[in-house]
Amino acid sequence: MRLPRPRRRLLSALLVLPVLALVAGCGPKTTQWSAPSSPSASPGRGQAASPTPTASPNPFDGKTPRFDPAPPPEPINLAGGPTAPLLSSIPTTQKVAFLTIDDGWIKKPEAIALLKASGVPVSLFLLSPAAKENPAFFKELVANGATIQAHTVNHLSMPSLSYERQKQEICGSADELGKLFGTRPTLFRPPFGDYNQNTLRAAHDCGMKAVLYWKQTVDKGKVRYQGEWGKMQPGDIVLMHFREAYVDDFTAALNAMKANGLTPALLENYIP
Ligand SMILES: [Zn+2]
Repeated sequence: MRLPRPRRRLLSALLVLPVLALVAGCGPKTTQWSAPSSPSASPGRGQAASPTPTASPNPFDGKTPRFDPAPPPEPINLAGGPTAPLLSSIPTTQKVAFLTIDDGWIKKPEAIALLKASGVPVSLFLLSPAAKENPAFFKELVANGATIQAHTVNHLSMPSLSYERQKQEICGSADELGKLFGTRPTLFRPPFGDYNQNTLRAAHDCGMKAVLYWKQTVDKGKVRYQGEWGKMQPGDIVLMHFREAYVDDFTAALNAMKANGLTPALLENYIP
């Protein structure tokens, strides 16, 4: 575990509570080290830690940062026209940021409990075949605060395709995701962030309100910042993926927002 020395000392002091060792790996200073509510703590020690009598055990309870409530959203103005606008952040002064998660082939079961414990909204940009493989997994995420948006069928670099082929990829994924989840996506993220004018036109013609880019990316539990290291701005869009390091990446993204005084908000609420 990549913990700074003081944290190691704290941890070893607390190792009598075995649950703490489970998910501690990526928590920088903003992680809250409240007593675990999981029943895997020793019998007889847990009575003071139970948050509510009805809560089912969640191994991530107390392991994700707590945020101030998101402010009432202020939707932005989108330019009209024949192309969908490209957004890498939401122009706002509100202290909010947006977590987006791409692809969907790797479905870590912990993602559901983690989202539930964190209580934050996220936008999932899914490949329609990856969603179709196990819609129940994503429906559980939706039940816990996720929304579903489009990311093509075949994950091809859009500029290599004709306008018509781009349209098939965008409309095709949106139609399928709409069928699977009951709501047709209205936002699109191009694979690899690659796009051209045809992408923006095809996205518009498929009913997409905007094409989404990003500011920060998260991989293997580390945030890559644009500009000054460690700094995020209000309205920033953070990109991570459904990957093996899902838990570390999700936690790192939230810790970065917390360290910058930003609260996760729902992207869709800002795009009218
Ligand atoms: Zn992708």
